Amino acid sequence: MPEINYDKVGLKVGLEIHQQLDTKKLFCSCPSMLRQDNPDFTIHRKLHAVAGETGEIDPAVMHQVSLKKEFVYEGYKTTCLVEIDEEPPHPVNNEALKIVLQISILLNAKIFPITQIMRKTVIDGSNTSGFQRTVLIARDGFIQTSHGKVGIESICLEEDSARIIGATENEVFYRLDRLGIPLIEIATAPDIKNPEQAKEVALQIGKILRSCNVRRGLGTIRQDVNVSIKKGARVEIKGVQKPELIEKAVEKEAERQFQIISMEGKVDSEVRKVLLNGETEFLRPMPGNARMYPETDLPLLKISRDMINEVKKDLPKLIGESEEELRKLELNQEMIKLLFSENKVEEFKELLAVLNNPKLIAKILLVFPREIASRETIPMEKIEKLLDASALLFVIKSLKEKKIKESEVKHVLEKIANGESPRSAIKIEKEDLNNLEEKIHKIIREKPGLSENAYMGLVMKELKGKISGKEAMEIIKKYVK
Ligand SMILES: [Zn+2]
Repeated sequence: MPEINYDKVGLKVGLEIHQQLDTKKLFCSCPSMLRQDNPDFTIHRKLHAVAGETGEIDPAVMHQVSLKKEFVYEGYKTTCLVEIDEEPPHPVNNEALKIVLQISILLNAKIFPITQIMRKTVIDGSNTSGFQRTVLIARDGFIQTSHGKVGIESICLEEDSARIIGATENEVFYRLDRLGIPLIEIATAPDIKNPEQAKEVALQIGKILRSCNVRRGLGTIRQDVNVSIKKGARVEIKGVQKPELIEKAVEKEAERQFQIISMEGKVDSEVRKVLLNGETEFLRPMPGNARMYPETDLPLLKISRDMINEVKKDLPKLIGESEEELRKLELNQEMIKLLFSENKVEEFKELLAVLNNPKLIAKILLVFPREIASRETIPMEKIEKLLDASALLFVIKSLKEKKIKESEVKHVLEKIANGESPRSAIKIEKEDLNNLEEKIHKIIREKPGLSENAYMGLVMKELKGKISGKEAMEIIKKYVK
């Protein structure tokens, strides 16, 4: 197939990005935490069709009701009444609102001084209330790309839906842990003109998001891509995870529409699902405009000048800027990338403020935990929990105060990863050190007449991780004479 001239075919692309924010839930104060343990209770509900304000019943609702499915909601002792829709929502989480304001400012958007929280009808059961709450916070922003300016049409703050766990013929199971986690929804204008630019926009917005307090990891960001060409139709591609895949998916969709048109066919406006190679498959027809009506349980949301000014004073540094800072510290590109992808830039800076040794701190944050995980076969999750910010800070302070040596750091971390308290991990280290010389002397006494290098081999085999090669050799030299 000849390469498509995207200008000629009039390619138009828009992105819609959903990112979870790292705060408590949006309309109650419950923690935003996904759970793997068994639920403490379930609630069973059925959907009933009720006529809307026009007096008619929505056909989509009718269809869902006709399926006669029962929704089973899985909750925990910590699940609150808001989450099971037995209590009106509490006011919007202020922290989440501030994060959305930050992002709006970074995207050059105009913030609404007064705005209305809305209900968007949801009929698949993924919200206990039957609707999703959403509030438009800002509009008319833009970002600059190497292919020109791309508009940001709208920025909303929304609540995430319940997580689907499984389904039988008659039931759908949803877990309430995800319901209510704050999401920012960013919709770009259809200004993107080629696949490469689509990727660039996703990367840029991703950088802005990650410089703010957002959740990381699988499933915390979801991107939809809208693609059309002249004489084609708007097709929404769901669930594109990585910017590289966005580029591929746009390419393939432009090709698909181009092919249909050149065979005098008609492109249907529909929702498609992305596959791993960037190809897509039909998911469902394009839904009509979502039914929205005001959330009557909450007052208008006022965003004061003072609040915006406060947020402006505390804007996060964009990742691009701090990337430059990190390069000045002579960290290699791979380390810099890892610091960002694992969201450890802030922790890195905090530790660096205690001990000015960028390479060692990068190793402590990024390399040692992995090595320990693979050698001791401890799950990474557990290691990250034990080697948390306060444990690492303690180790680095101990290093600064010369309670331990640089060569001992990894061994100390190993002990902590095996469940020892940081305090005891460095103390025992001290005793070990005092005994090391005695141990080395014993090794030499037991096998007299060997070369320095042969002793070195024996010593390192027995005391691996407890002493550096250099220190061991100094002691060996003392006794081999
Ligand atoms: Zn709650």
